Amino acid sequence: MIIGIDLGTTNSLVAYYDDEGAKIIPNRLGGRLTPSVVSVEGDQIYVGEVAKERMLLHPEDSAAVFKRTMGTDAKYRLGGRLFRSEELSSFILRSLKEDAEAFLGEPVEEAVISVPAYFNDARRKATKHAGELAGLKVERIISEPTAAAVAYGLYEMQDDAKVLVFDLGGGTFDVSILELSGTILEVRAVAGDNYLGGEDFTDILEELWFKKTETEAEGLDDRTRRHIHRQAELCKLSFEREKVVKMICTIGDEEKEALISADEFEKNCEDLLERIRIPVRKSLSDAKLKLSEIDKVVLVGGATRLPLIRRLVGRLFRIIPDTSVNPDEAIAIGAAIQAAMKERRESIREIILTDVCPFTLSTEVSIEREGGGFESGHVCPIIERNTVIPASRTETLYPLYDNQKTIRVRVLQGESRFAENNLKLGELEIQLPKGKKDDNSVDVTYTYDINSILEVQVRVNRSGEVIKQILKGQDVDMTDEEIAARMEELAYLKIPPREQERNKLLLVKGERLYEENFGEDRLVIEQHIRRFEQALNSQDPVRIDAAREEFREFLEDWE
Ligand code: ADP
Ligand code: MG
Repeated sequence: MIIGIDLGTTNSLVAYYDDEGAKIIPNRLGGRLTPSVVSVEGDQIYVGEVAKERMLLHPEDSAAVFKRTMGTDAKYRLGGRLFRSEELSSFILRSLKEDAEAFLGEPVEEAVISVPAYFNDARRKATKHAGELAGLKVERIISEPTAAAVAYGLYEMQDDAKVLVFDLGGGTFDVSILELSGTILEVRAVAGDNYLGGEDFTDILEELWFKKTETEAEGLDDRTRRHIHRQAELCKLSFEREKVVKMICTIGDEEKEALISADEFEKNCEDLLERIRIPVRKSLSDAKLKLSEIDKVVLVGGATRLPLIRRLVGRLFRIIPDTSVNPDEAIAIGAAIQAAMKERRESIREIILTDVCPFTLSTEVSIEREGGGFESGHVCPIIERNTVIPASRTETLYPLYDNQKTIRVRVLQGESRFAENNLKLGELEIQLPKGKKDDNSVDVTYTYDINSILEVQVRVNRSGEVIKQILKGQDVDMTDEEIAARMEELAYLKIPPREQERNKLLLVKGERLYEENFGEDRLVIEQHIRRFEQALNSQDPVRIDAAREEFREFLEDWE
């Protein structure tokens, strides 16, 4: 059985395909979403809900949102040891693999994993390695918007169509325009905001509560701040069903409440909504499409459950977005369908984004000032973002002065007009023959291929000399031996037995409640924790079950 995995920034999911279609596999705690959080305690590694709880009390042993640095050299320190993003991700994948095996009752060795459309080859490879470190073969990586489109059955549509996938997750926003022609589903353009997501809407609610209850944020300790944040998150979720929600927080021994209406919330989100419009416009203009040419809009990501987001999308596109597939499950469902197709050796021919250059590649130039003289630090785009690749483009540059000896070609990546705000990929220094500036040009050619390899070629036109340099994307290639060695190194870290995790979650919650409270309350909480621990020590399953139920109810009542 090949499974489909959505390895998300905030939440991850695993799905499989049977006669009835694709289905989400519940994790060991019964949840459909597994938070993408990892926490280390000794040689135990916790993943998901338990790790998310542990992160509140032990941030130094825990990590979240590490997908942002997938395929880079970034390292995270947990429990005094260093891990790369793909290693942390491999723990999530290991846990999902176990959940799938327990649920399906058979070994699972292969997976299709989704990645953002803008992931370049290096980041896709790192994702594959994460799978391999988890003991999964990953032959197929699928772009998230493509997976979402597949979940909506788009590949079965009779006519060619243009689809916009609107994905608002926890901390990222991605817009992708896909075009279906025949059986080819092509990513035409991508745009987004890497720092915009559901969390920002939680922050707005938090601010509203502070304002309405006239509470000073300054001076509050971390625990209280986290409590307020959690209440804001709960309050945000209720807008799916209610028009007015009551947000109550306990500060010291005082309960403070504020009523927040959906309208008021929406008004305060105006800046965020404006930021959402920007990538939507950008993706359309890059794909050279008008709003009216979009045949279908698909909503993906947990934050699109917010009614105010649905209204915004309705207003923007004047179409009712399709939400028939659960927005936080669509990508995993699509990956599972792709996995099933792979098993049956059918497939939707998917052109992934490594077929579009996700950023502009340019070179630094000086421009002439009006009153004379030159101003350096400007940018001349050579390959523009969303150009279909492989692509090769040439620009002719001239020296600034007669008899100028050298010309410097700086290779830049990014969208800014100013060189210093873009990422510098490399530099070539070219010797020029003597001559007048106007007939001493050089031709600069950039060739970008699907493996994120950029070849820069400079031709000195007077002499015919050609200088070449290859700039490779960050290389995270690991050999099979290196992967095996690293797997062995990580093997000492054990994911605890599945049945223990339920108990651990309650214990961690209890521990947090204890720390959040004072005096008498602490004593009561401690008593309950100890009673549960004693039951656990007895190793009597019947007693443990009863004690767990009792402890769970106690914790629920308390919160
Ligand atoms: P990611 O793609 O980053 O892994 P998800 O698609 O799982 O993220 O979305 C997570 C975000 O969705 C969180 O910010 C969460 O608060 C938000 N979210 C989930 N359910 C709802 C809901 N019912 N209403 C509003 N926001 C929600
Ligand atoms: Mg997602």
